[in-house]
Amino acid sequence: MDRNFVANRVETMNESETLAMARKSRELKALGKDIISLSLGEPDFDTPSFIKDAGIRAIQDNHSHYTPVQGYSDLLDAISFKFKRDQGLSYSQKQIVCSNGAKQSIANLCLAVLNPGDEVLVPAPYWVSYREIIRLAGAIPVELNAGHEQNFKVDAHQLEQAIGPKTKMLLFSSPCNPTGAMMTQSELEAWVQVLLKHPSILVVSDEIYELIAFDQPHISIATFQGMYDRTVIVNGMSKGFAMTGWRLGYLAGPVDVIDACLKIQGQLTSAPSSIAQKAAIAGLLAEPALVQFMVDAFKSRRDKMAEAVKSIPGFVLSVPPGAFYLFPDISACLNWSWGGKSVNDAQDFCSLMLEEAGVAMVPGDAFGAPGCIRMSYAADWHILEEAVLRIRKVIEHYHALG
Ligand code: PMP
Ligand code: GLU
Repeated sequence: MDRNFVANRVETMNESETLAMARKSRELKALGKDIISLSLGEPDFDTPSFIKDAGIRAIQDNHSHYTPVQGYSDLLDAISFKFKRDQGLSYSQKQIVCSNGAKQSIANLCLAVLNPGDEVLVPAPYWVSYREIIRLAGAIPVELNAGHEQNFKVDAHQLEQAIGPKTKMLLFSSPCNPTGAMMTQSELEAWVQVLLKHPSILVVSDEIYELIAFDQPHISIATFQGMYDRTVIVNGMSKGFAMTGWRLGYLAGPVDVIDACLKIQGQLTSAPSSIAQKAAIAGLLAEPALVQFMVDAFKSRRDKMAEAVKSIPGFVLSVPPGAFYLFPDISACLNWSWGGKSVNDAQDFCSLMLEEAGVAMVPGDAFGAPGCIRMSYAADWHILEEAVLRIRKVIEHYHALG
């Protein structure tokens, strides 16, 4: 048939591999298969009651109309309050825009500031959607690689080496999805020394896992001298407040950049949901202690899960200080033919584990780290324990055959 309705930009775009793996697990579960999904990065907790109550009140109070494009004024104030309280950063309403999830915030931003051919530095491992969003904007993702021997953190020398005449942006997350790595004060300071030599680079600091930090404080690069005016912070309600389905993210940064994002958003989606906005206010203004129970649970699971995963033959793990992922290097389990089954890369490994162990995980290729896999530990401990048992059993079985 001589037809192709689909645009080239979609033909060359990869499907989100985190969402693809979540879909595959759902499909297998619907067929009655016993699948443990460690694939999707979302808190297993339901949204706390005090936030849900605010959402219900918003419906009853008829907050059912279009809102200002950047979000309700009281939401902008709540975001501003939280920035000041938690990070000592001052943002006026004009410096903030709310969107349908941080994913849309990042997409707005890339469309608003990147020209075709611009280069964006993306320390790898990186969150899966960065690469595709940058490409959608016509720009070029430039990967900087850091393996587990560097605790998955790119150093200042690597950063300096990667900067060229076309570099427009640096985009990274700390705490990091997929590794859980967190930049320290001194590591950020070293980056800043390099960046100060290149004032035309916009820094985008994705801090959506800000609250999920166990062993060291979260530090924003925007707090360093000379960085505030050229940094955009990405954050949102999905992770720390267990509100993934509500779709509420936000950006804070220089007014010219925020205005450009508003223009894009005004044409694409107007504003995020009025109900989600009102619910988010309750979360942002609440005492942090009210959501700490989730962080405490993630920490206890991190500790147990790290021990368990380290004991799987062939898995090498850097214990992550934040987020809710483990990112073991499984190179030692690759390039094997196990009982006639070839496992050449992390994708083969994840397929084998999905089929034979009934455990869904995401191959590191999706995050720019081919020898690794991502395991989300946002699940009850007994589920995680069972997942590790199943993985170990399959590896031991094939090892015996191999
Ligand atoms: N940034 C990172 C690093 C993420 O892991 C995610 C995934 N939730 C997002 C942004 C987007 O989050 P959301 O759209 O749910 O706010
Ligand atoms: N950010 C989460 C993840 O990495 C949710 C899925 C997605 O948005 O890609 O799994």
